[in-house]
Amino acid sequence: MFLREYSRAVNVLRGVGPVLKQRLAQIGIHSICDLLNHFPRDYQDRRSIDPLASALKKERINSLVRVVSRSWIGRGYKKVLRVLIADDSGKASLVCFGRNFLEKYLIPGKYFWVSGSFKYRYGEAQSSNFDIEIYKEEKSKRFQRILPIYPLSEGLIQGLLRRLMDKALVYVEPDLSEEIPEPLKKRYRFLSKLQALKFIHFPESWDQLKKARHTLIFEELFYYQLILEKLRLKRQSIYRHRRKPQLTLKSNLIERLPFRLTDDQKHVLSEIENDLFSHHPMARLIQGDVGSGKTLIAFLASLAVIESGEQVAFLAPTELLARQHANNAAVLFEPLGISLAFLSGNIKGVQRERLKAALNGGDIDLVIGTHALFSTDIAFKKLGLVIVDEQHRFGVRQRQALVDKGDHPDLLLLTATPIPRTLALTLFGDLELSEIRNKPEGRKPVITHLTRQGNEKKVYDRVREEVKKGRQAYFVYPLIEESTKLQLKDAESMYLSLKRSFSDLNLKLIHSRIPEEDKQMIMDAFVSGKVDILVATSVMEVGLDVANANCIVIEHAERFGLSNLHQLRGRVGRGSYQSYAFLIYSNSLTESGIQRLKVIMTTHDGFIIAQEDLNIRGPGEFLGVKQSGFLRLGHADPLRDQEILIDARKEANGLLRDDPDLCKPENRICSLVLKTGSLQRDIT
Ligand code: ADP
Ligand code: MG
Repeated sequence: MFLREYSRAVNVLRGVGPVLKQRLAQIGIHSICDLLNHFPRDYQDRRSIDPLASALKKERINSLVRVVSRSWIGRGYKKVLRVLIADDSGKASLVCFGRNFLEKYLIPGKYFWVSGSFKYRYGEAQSSNFDIEIYKEEKSKRFQRILPIYPLSEGLIQGLLRRLMDKALVYVEPDLSEEIPEPLKKRYRFLSKLQALKFIHFPESWDQLKKARHTLIFEELFYYQLILEKLRLKRQSIYRHRRKPQLTLKSNLIERLPFRLTDDQKHVLSEIENDLFSHHPMARLIQGDVGSGKTLIAFLASLAVIESGEQVAFLAPTELLARQHANNAAVLFEPLGISLAFLSGNIKGVQRERLKAALNGGDIDLVIGTHALFSTDIAFKKLGLVIVDEQHRFGVRQRQALVDKGDHPDLLLLTATPIPRTLALTLFGDLELSEIRNKPEGRKPVITHLTRQGNEKKVYDRVREEVKKGRQAYFVYPLIEESTKLQLKDAESMYLSLKRSFSDLNLKLIHSRIPEEDKQMIMDAFVSGKVDILVATSVMEVGLDVANANCIVIEHAERFGLSNLHQLRGRVGRGSYQSYAFLIYSNSLTESGIQRLKVIMTTHDGFIIAQEDLNIRGPGEFLGVKQSGFLRLGHADPLRDQEILIDARKEANGLLRDDPDLCKPENRICSLVLKTGSLQRDIT
């Protein structure tokens, strides 16, 4: 049986009753498989026996000691047991806060194991953070070994989890199957699955732990790559009717543009057109900085599809953004006689019915909308191209739901959160990649200032000057409303306070909890210049395009990731005016925190910023919860484990090249694992 198939509930293990089952469920452990996949978050090396005399020299010591004497600190119900301990090298004492019951066990003359961190207090080495075990002849459970430390939650303790892991390992032992094909296992000297699980939970040496990790992480990434490559091959095996290149509409639009396409734009457009006019459906990701002109390229690509009589669906993550795209498209496309539609959850009743009928009947060439586009009741006459803006905001499943509304339509994904190419190639192994690196000419880089909290007044004065000249400004805060836990400025209170500071100007507040209709009104007022200052949270991070806005003030800038800051800064500098970004940071920010912000000050290249962000935060956070389009890997970390990832990709692709249907006996394992299904869910 594969580990993933051990789906029986944890209470098949002896000692797990309903209460414990409930507690385990709280940390996502339901089945035996979940349990064994709950890896330690850390390990404590308790193999050595340290002399007590070294207590103050090391962060933590493990010793075998005896009780010398006991005494009490304080009196009454607040009194605390103090135990004087010793070995041949010296003495120390344990202060048993909340553990006076130890009096029963720690009797003078008794020997016991102790692991603790000691500090010098009241003239002696003292510890109140320690773990003990009474010395016995047989091998200790918690000492003279490497001890796994598990992530816990309320009502669970380390010892219990360790005992459960032991039992679970025994439970799966007789029947656990290998998942890595034998030839690969031999070549890379991977452990057996059982060995690897044993060593990840209970390593006897760091070397065992390393091998266990290598095995398990390879396995995970190998299957991930195998699925991606299969997806890619499947797409390439689809043979469809070729579109005839018709580019009249495109040329018409390009002629009417008030600017020329950049070289990168031209290049990417030609890559897309190659795909559009080929026998196989396209799946291409365009990475490009904010304002690099991705949307325009997507629009131009749509024209070829529309010209050959097919429909295009353009998906955006927020209503605001979808509406903005729809407005831009209207300006560009309506003169060409193209029929456009906008769809969101707020379009209801008769209006929605009419739109549905028009889409179904093929009367609409291009529909731009939000999540509403992939609702089940929406159908197309002939969907030829799906465009997904800010693709990382969508799950693979969601975009697939839209793709499934056509007969193998082309898929074009856009992202302004670029990730480094090597990482992208592996994470998005099923996609073709295009990059737009240079920006349209004539853009003045946004001048970025770092300002310490307390000096806001200078910033506010600068903003006022710009607004007086007729420009507009954004103020961004990390929180919507006041938080008692965090000492941070929030958008709501700052809105009131800024209204007082700028009493002669028109300010408006926008954040995710404001109803969609109001948001729309506020945005319209801002776009038309009736509102001078927009106070916001990072909801406005994505895609807002108001050329007259030339100042952005970001307070508590240290609370935002570098890529976020870069995105936010991209809200200005979109027109011909010199623009400014003011990053206000907390007084208590460390030197390294300030260094981090300086990256934003000195760099305007989103690719470099992304790399830096990735280095600083690690992919876990960088790829983040929000980035639902990325896979949720279990144990692997695509950046830390990059070397394994590259091997896994090489092997997975090689294997499929050699044996596309996985029918060779040694690869049978792979097709069986893939069939167990739950893998697919890990990715989608
Ligand atoms: P992105 O989607 O990459 O953020 P957009 O396509 O929205 O970028 O383009 C941002 C702005 O730049 C738009 O107003 C667009 O009309 C304009 N733009 C696009 N391409 C060019 C170009 N080659 N030269 C000048 N301006 C351009
Ligand atoms: Mg965009």
